[in-house]
Amino acid sequence: MASNTDARRRIGISFEFFPPKSEEMEGQLWNTVNELQDWNPDFVSVTYGAGGTTKAPTLATVSRFLSATPLATASHLTCVGATKEETHSVIDSFRTVGVKHFVALRGDAPGGVGAPYQPHPGGYANAAELVAGLRDIGDFEISVSAYPEKHPESRDTAADIEMLKRKADNGADRALTQFFFDNDNFERYLEKVRAAGIRIPIVPGIMPIQNLTQLKRFAGACGTVVPQFLDERFAGFDDKPEERAKVAAEVAAEQIEDLARRGIEDFHLYTMNRAPLVSAVLTNLGFKREATKKAGAAA
Ligand code: FAD
Repeated sequence: MASNTDARRRIGISFEFFPPKSEEMEGQLWNTVNELQDWNPDFVSVTYGAGGTTKAPTLATVSRFLSATPLATASHLTCVGATKEETHSVIDSFRTVGVKHFVALRGDAPGGVGAPYQPHPGGYANAAELVAGLRDIGDFEISVSAYPEKHPESRDTAADIEMLKRKADNGADRALTQFFFDNDNFERYLEKVRAAGIRIPIVPGIMPIQNLTQLKRFAGACGTVVPQFLDERFAGFDDKPEERAKVAAEVAAEQIEDLARRGIEDFHLYTMNRAPLVSAVLTNLGFKREATKKAGAAA
């Protein structure tokens, strides 16, 4: 395993959070942030409910990140179900609280993953158009999505890569991937992405596994394959949360180390608003905490 300094130099990290839905979850989020900010991520991001369903909580959460923590903060933004004017008004609200980085997304159809997608007649049809719109509005940093195992609605990987190319050509700075567990497949995907002339960083989305059974349900809807080896790694630990957490931290750290050996430098960690497992993964990787000012203490 690499030394602390080596690991930090080699690997850049970002964290994804979602806006809390209750007071209790709000307390949990800010306690999590207090712990995770000491790992000194390059940036954090906050998700946005497709169709504007979490506009107010996302705005409040992002605003607090920007005003009360030292963390560079991106807001996710979707364009589904909105006119361009409505999307611009959302962008304005975020810009007013200091957002300079968007994760620009189309969003799922209102019927959920797999339901037929109908662009709003007066809106952006997809994330590539949204990226172009953002570039016209301001000098934002822009991240977009990528799908190493293809988006569930996509005809094939080639169609997916074509869309990624349009997003990159329109000005995206990086792509954050859907979570995956098959690094060989990711490497093949990356080769195709580069062969298509896409030069932006493709940052793997890493999901530390809090609960394998729940993850399988969620992964199915996202089109992510959960390989057999994970069943084997977690076998016998259903009623042993401590052992399960240890294996989960090892699995995610091993996945990151393997990708780092293949030349990947940056990783986006899905935190699920919980700190212990993410901290265990980073400890396994040899990261060191750097104490930071805790302005974002729980309300
Ligand atoms: P796009 O990139 O526009 O399209 C997705 C795929 O659909 C394309 O790759 C393409 O193959 C196909 N496609 C779409 N339009 C066309 C076309 N005209 N021609 C050919 N193919 C087409 N959802 C949320 O609601 N809120 C979030 O905060 C959020 N954050 C996310 C963060 C990450 C890192 C990822 C990977 C996903 C996130 N999502 C989020 C999920 C995302 O909104 C859904 O997967 C949605 O269905 C697609 O949005 P997109 O921006 O990926 O779409």
